[in-house]
Amino acid sequence: SNTHYLESQQRRESNARSYPRKIPIAITEASGMMVKDADGKTYYDCLAGAGTLALGHNHPVVVEAIRSTLDSGLPLHTLDLTTPVKEAFVDELYQLLPAAFASKARIQFCGPSGADGVEAAVKLVKTATGRRSMLSFQGGYHGMTHGALSLTGNLNPKRDISGLMPEVHFLPYPYAYRCPFELGGEQGWRVGSKYIERTLSDPESGITAPAGMIVEAVQGEGGVIPAPDEWLREMRRITKQNGIPLIMDEVQTGFGRTGSMFAFQHSGIIPDAVVLSKAIGGSLPLSVVVYSEELDVWEPGAHAGTFRGNQLAMAAGLATMKFIRENRIDEHAAAIGGRLLERLRQIGRLTSCIGDVRGRGLMIGVEIVDTNGAIDVLGSYPARPDMAKAIQKACLERGLILELGGRHGSVVRLLPPLIITDEQVEEIAAIFHDAVRAVER
Ligand code: PMP
Repeated sequence: SNTHYLESQQRRESNARSYPRKIPIAITEASGMMVKDADGKTYYDCLAGAGTLALGHNHPVVVEAIRSTLDSGLPLHTLDLTTPVKEAFVDELYQLLPAAFASKARIQFCGPSGADGVEAAVKLVKTATGRRSMLSFQGGYHGMTHGALSLTGNLNPKRDISGLMPEVHFLPYPYAYRCPFELGGEQGWRVGSKYIERTLSDPESGITAPAGMIVEAVQGEGGVIPAPDEWLREMRRITKQNGIPLIMDEVQTGFGRTGSMFAFQHSGIIPDAVVLSKAIGGSLPLSVVVYSEELDVWEPGAHAGTFRGNQLAMAAGLATMKFIRENRIDEHAAAIGGRLLERLRQIGRLTSCIGDVRGRGLMIGVEIVDTNGAIDVLGSYPARPDMAKAIQKACLERGLILELGGRHGSVVRLLPPLIITDEQVEEIAAIFHDAVRAVER
């Protein structure tokens, strides 16, 4: 039963465990967007491995790719030696990336996690520029290792840790709902980007020449905040003007999640480096950084690591990428994500605690607020993380798994597998509506 597994987990696992506190179940079976717990109850999974499972759980093409690799006699562990699976994986990835980028790109395999890819990208731009400070964004999330944590905007996970990278400058992200300049919409992000431009050209700004800027085209953990395309084009222009490499963290947004293959493509920019993980391994652990060849100043051995050759992850990732490309899953995510967003906005109009519903493709956030409260310092209604938690719990009871995020933990996040159907959108929306109504009562 769930109780059996949870008690055993509580006894032995670190207190740092996070998901099990809000989603106290043991999963015994999973297929597509459904999971079953140890008590036999089924759930729609809108967490999907924190956005990893682009094709859902145990997709037949992924399972088959893993199985045939196992049966083929290929080695499963190869450090960073090359193999036929690796070559096909890189071919497929380069096919998905915009040609203007891929034609002059180098790839570095980085190890299992998104944070590994971020660490590599930061080391790379520091080496290439000979500089040491980094530009990151308020609300940004890049992982939990020392370097990645230094770049993460949220203070909570780094409060008790000394010795993080000291020279990280946090710039304002275009968060329209809570705009630090007290200007909504387009005016707000225009002021923000002007501020960034002036700050970077002001010798008295206190910012030493940065080695790079790292940015998410849609902030995920930070509360599902899509940056306007034109804002991202401004960041590209400003970084180019100042000779600062631009790193896109596409760990969560990559591979169709936002309705285009990579989220930076909505704006048409070409970054200097892209960090990829999560969906790239087809549910198995893998990360890479792909970057322009001008940045490739690394000496042999400059960035090593034992687990950079997970053949099963490459096979599963290859199958996933190919399926996404051949079946235009990115376009499906754009269309069906639009429908889910619209349904959630309708629910927002019929209930009273939903301040904002936003997203891109199948990366959607619902900000839970107190609409009777006084407007706060960032010009919006007070966040209600307690209600967001209650909604998450009410959804779980009704058979829907979703996650929270945002700077106050008050944003309900939906990251369903990209293969979600229209019927499933309706069923999820109905559960969510019922859960919000129950919490408001
Ligand atoms: N970057 C982004 C944008 C992420 O969303 C995450 C994980 N949620 C990471 C980096 C870190 O990835 P990992 O947890 O695999 O280290």
